[in-house]
Parts: sequence; structure tokens; C-alpha cells
Amino acid sequence: MNRALLLLAVGLGVLAALVFYPREIAPSDAPLTPGPLDGAQDTLAFRFIGNAGIAISDGATTLLTDLPYEPGAHGYMVYEPEAVRPVGEAVAVITHRHTDHFSPALFQARDWFIVGPEEVTLALPSARVLPLLDTVEVGAFRVLPIRTPHSNTEHYSYLVAWRGVRLFFVGDTEDPSALLARADLDVVFITPWLSCIVEDQGATVKAERLVLYHQRPDGSDRMCSGAEVLAQGTGFRLAARD
Ligand SMILES: [Zn+2]
Repeated sequence: MNRALLLLAVGLGVLAALVFYPREIAPSDAPLTPGPLDGAQDTLAFRFIGNAGIAISDGATTLLTDLPYEPGAHGYMVYEPEAVRPVGEAVAVITHRHTDHFSPALFQARDWFIVGPEEVTLALPSARVLPLLDTVEVGAFRVLPIRTPHSNTEHYSYLVAWRGVRLFFVGDTEDPSALLARADLDVVFITPWLSCIVEDQGATVKAERLVLYHQRPDGSDRMCSGAEVLAQGTGFRLAARD
């Protein structure tokens, strides 16, 4: 390539990176802090930590789904538990007891609160366990546990509402009926297998955005339902709707 053209291409690349950067959160171990988005003051910042672990923060409260889990458990993603440094009040939101979703030892070494199945929380210090009500209020978040089947565990999927934004975390369930019963979802975090069960049923998730989690690190998963892949360590922001 001609030198001038190469410089132009590099320049355009840098410009594009600068323009698009504010939408994405760079992979780093920096604390998850929500920033302005398209002029909106109040935003929710998401970061994909690994496996089914997503950190979501509005700056005052950080929810951590299926975190901390055992890095690399069952061949799933590794991550650095010490690098997860939530801002504000931290609450783990746990779907079930399997080690690729929760590590009691790693949780005990932190000062986070927890919402999760009784078979997970009974062994934990009760002062850090939030009661598993129909709606659990945490800061500006409302967390709704929805009992869904997964092997022989007590398992919950979660609907999470924040200032008019509606999120859904399927967990490991193989049954899409609770998910398909919901409408007006903004972001659904979905496993490769559930995305394929939905597609094979000819059904459609009523969500603006389907984001894949719990994928195999070697990329061997079948991909369905148009779910988007988020690179580990990266994220995005959403503006409040109210
Ligand atoms: Zn799992």
C-alpha cells in the first residue's frame, strides 16, 4: 500500500476508535463506573467478566450475576477474581450452586451481599444474605427471581428492572417458557443452548438485544437467535428511560 494511503487508513481507524469508544467500556480491571452516554446523565454500565458473570452498575449499586465463580470451572472462562472491584454497594445475584456460577470461598473473602437460592445462601453469614422475596429492592434496582428448572438444583432466572430498563438473565435453564412469557425486554443475557432451543421452537424472544453468555472458550458453541457475542472484559452502557 502507498504510504499516504496507509497513513490515511491509520488516521481513519484512530478517528473511528475515538468516535465509537464512549459506547464501549474498555477491557481493564478499572472499577466499573458509569459515564455519560449520548448526553444522558444517568447510565447503567455493563461488563462481561466471564462465563455467566456480568457486572452492572449505576455508580451507587453494582449487581454481579453469577459472581464470584471458580475461574475455569468445568472448562469455562478463566478470569481474575481480584480484578473485579465493584463500586458502591455490591450484590451477587446467583442462579444456582454449580461452581461455574458461584464459589462460597471467594464470596466469603468479599464484603458483597447476595441474592440467591436457599441451597446456596443457607451456609453463608445471614447478615450478608438478602431475603429471596418476589421482588428484591437494591438501590435503584428491582430484582425478580423466577424459579426455572436446571438439572437437580434450586435454580432462578432473574428479571432486573432499573429506571425503566428491563434486563433478563436466563441462567442455565433448558426451559425457555419463563423468558418467552416476557415482553418489552431491553437486554437478555442468554446461553448458547437456550438461544438454540428458542430458535428450534420457531419462537422469538421479545427483546431489543440478545447477548450471549456462558459460551465455550474454544468457540465450539452453535449460535442461534441472532444473539450477539460480547468479548470477555468488554461491555456497554444504557441510558435510563425515566
Ligand atoms: Zn453453568
